[in-house]
Amino acid sequence: MKLRNCKQVTNYILGKNSLEQLWEDVLEDKIISDTDYVVYCIDHFFESSENSLIDRLPIRNNDTIFYIDTTDEPHADYINKLIDIVRANKTLPSVVVGIGGGSTMDFAKAISILCTNEGKAEDYQGWNLVKNKAIFKVGIPTISGTGAEFTRTCVMTSKIKKLGINSDQSVFDQVIMDPNLLETVPKDQFFYTAMDCFVHNVESLRGSQNDSLTIAFAEKSLEMMKDVFFNKMDLEKLMVSSAMGGTAVANSNVGICHPLSYGLSLVLGLHHGIAICIAFNQLEEYYPEVKDFKEYLIKYDIKLPKINEMGVSEKQIEKMADATLLNEKPLENAFGPNWKNIFTKDKVIELIKKM
Ligand code: NAD
Ligand code: ZN
Repeated sequence: MKLRNCKQVTNYILGKNSLEQLWEDVLEDKIISDTDYVVYCIDHFFESSENSLIDRLPIRNNDTIFYIDTTDEPHADYINKLIDIVRANKTLPSVVVGIGGGSTMDFAKAISILCTNEGKAEDYQGWNLVKNKAIFKVGIPTISGTGAEFTRTCVMTSKIKKLGINSDQSVFDQVIMDPNLLETVPKDQFFYTAMDCFVHNVESLRGSQNDSLTIAFAEKSLEMMKDVFFNKMDLEKLMVSSAMGGTAVANSNVGICHPLSYGLSLVLGLHHGIAICIAFNQLEEYYPEVKDFKEYLIKYDIKLPKINEMGVSEKQIEKMADATLLNEKPLENAFGPNWKNIFTKDKVIELIKKM
């Protein structure tokens, strides 16, 4: 069997106030001449004066700042609009910095790739389609759980599909994890995104496509999640858990919950974290960890929306089931090569109707 050659984040800084080291440890030796510049992709939450990070960032006159509207998750059309602005400059940026959650970090990844690879974002949705080395990129998470800061994909929707740019060029060269940045995340969003990490670990551990290193990462990440959610909330621990869960899942695979969540997101436009929670809540027959998840729901007073109260039609349910079953690799990871005989369309529809 041919083994994977796994790409990892090259450098990281972890700890309170690590954001303050962005210039000295990361940018200073890359921004030298007057024509060198940085493209910042920053979540739109930080645009208002009360939440602004501008005074804390080493921004120079010719840098470009894009505030990313994350009301909807990343769409290829939006990415294409921003890359057209960057390509219209006389020179390419020296560095791209993404500050935000999974959505904004994925924007930064896509822009750094499209600076040096012609065409549109959707041309690269798939596996190993990127030809040229991307621009040096920095990921600074402001919400924890997706693990996007440590993975080799950047997820986006285009006209026809929700699929990532899965490439070594999607891995950040530098990550800065400053737990102070998580303090403003609203409670429900905090929970949904954190649970994405919990589910990454469960799916990675209970699948067949893992290896001893991904198992080690996922087990430790899960242990830290339990500690954080049952015992004492610790934002730095959560950040580490997210990074480890991201590494585990990037180098193994997701399982049953993610395919179901993609169906929910595609048809109902639900965001990733909430779709993950709605799907995982019904998967007790496959994953014993759903018991812990239900206890977290109670402890954090989270009321999950019910999709069967959203007026969903039979046709929409069928579309969700079809979208779920397109995810052959994750389902094979979960059920083995014979998965089509075990996880049938009828079974998927039965699960969706319970959600
Ligand atoms: P997000 O980036 O979509 O942001 C969710 C909300 O949180 C937004 O309203 C945003 O404004 C707000 N927010 C972010 N930081 C905040 C802060 N510090 N204070 C207050 N509000 C804040 O959330 P997410 O769950 O991190 O990311 C979901 C996206 O990540 C999806 O598009 C999903 O497909 C993608 N994803 C990517 C990977 C990957 O490996 N690249 C993995 C999993 C998920
Ligand atoms: Zn996920």
